[in-house]
Amino acid sequence: MNSEQKEDNRKTRIERIDGLIKRMEGILTGGEAKRGIPRGERNEILEITGELKRIKNMLEEREGMENTLTILSCTRCGHTWHPRTPQLPKVCPLCKSPYWDKERGWHKK
Ligand SMILES: [Zn+2]
Repeated sequence: MNSEQKEDNRKTRIERIDGLIKRMEGILTGGEAKRGIPRGERNEILEITGELKRIKNMLEEREGMENTLTILSCTRCGHTWHPRTPQLPKVCPLCKSPYWDKERGWHKK
């Protein structure tokens, strides 16, 4: 598969998911819900949400793996920890210092 075909395939999947989300919204929030969700639609919704959950799990697993490679440490209290999100925390989880990543003494007069 060349990169152009790959790109087309990706677009098709995104369009399919986008179309399905719009239909889901119509079904779930619109008057259609009162009449019941057609079995075919329901199966497709479950299939797509299952796929999305699988992707979410893969993503979280991957992020978890990346996080184990990163250890942050607080310059204030010496606490070290594995970050759970890619963003750096605003404060140290132990001593709550907002200067955990700053060199000691920079804010002193
Ligand atoms: Zn600390």
